[in-house]
Amino acid sequence: MAEVNISEARKAYGTLSVLHGVDIEIRDGEFVVLVGPSGCGKSTLLRMVAGLESITGGTISIGGKVVNNLPPKDRDIAMVFQSYALYPHKTVAENMVFALRLQKQPADVIKQRLQAAAETLDLVPYLDRYPRQLSGGQRQRVAMGRAIVRSPQVFLFDEPLSNLDAKLRVQMRKEIKELHQRLRTTTIYVTHDQVEAMTMADKIVVMQGGKTEQVGTPLELYDRPSNTFVATFIGSPS
Ligand code: ADP
Ligand code: MG
Repeated sequence: MAEVNISEARKAYGTLSVLHGVDIEIRDGEFVVLVGPSGCGKSTLLRMVAGLESITGGTISIGGKVVNNLPPKDRDIAMVFQSYALYPHKTVAENMVFALRLQKQPADVIKQRLQAAAETLDLVPYLDRYPRQLSGGQRQRVAMGRAIVRSPQVFLFDEPLSNLDAKLRVQMRKEIKELHQRLRTTTIYVTHDQVEAMTMADKIVVMQGGKTEQVGTPLELYDRPSNTFVATFIGSPS
């Protein structure tokens, strides 16, 4: 079980309070999108789930276990960022298995997981290439491959597509959704793009100014926005 529970989560950077008590329940296998304007605290919240930021107040639990004080390496999660810096001097295969080597996984496990991830992401023909020899979409897939090989309980995405052009963004949305349909890994996906949220989410969390405004399915938000902010945000063109 890998449900994620965020309860009364608060965050302050020094005297600046940026999250003011956020509650989000994410079920096992759910694809939840956090959406909201720039600066509303999405990345901060995601980084708290990952263990990359300390938690000022409240609790975060993964799979029923409170993780507030667990370092990132002891949380069963993998994160994909917008700036998915690949190692330029390592091949695709080496990039993908780097974390597994650090974990000192046995060679046969590494080989098997690499093969499975490469097949899932259509990267088999590219395993011996270097990042500079790949297209933007292929590089993005390698970045996802690095997360997949770890078979985490939870995937965290922070605006993974915002550096891609519009056409590729649409294609990658589809690929990420297909991946989720296949793996059913609990996913928290952050974006400031409401179209991305509406097309990808099982459940959307609309955030503003360090609080959640509304939580619901895309249809619920579209049909019954709980306030003008949600209505305007969801309804505006991206
Ligand atoms: P979002 O991802 O929604 O754009 P962030 O979580 O990055 O928002 O930022 C939320 C707020 O916290 C912003 O006001 C931002 O300036 C502030 N902030 C983010 N990271 C830090 C930090 N390391 N130190 C101080 N303030 C920060
Ligand atoms: Mg952000």
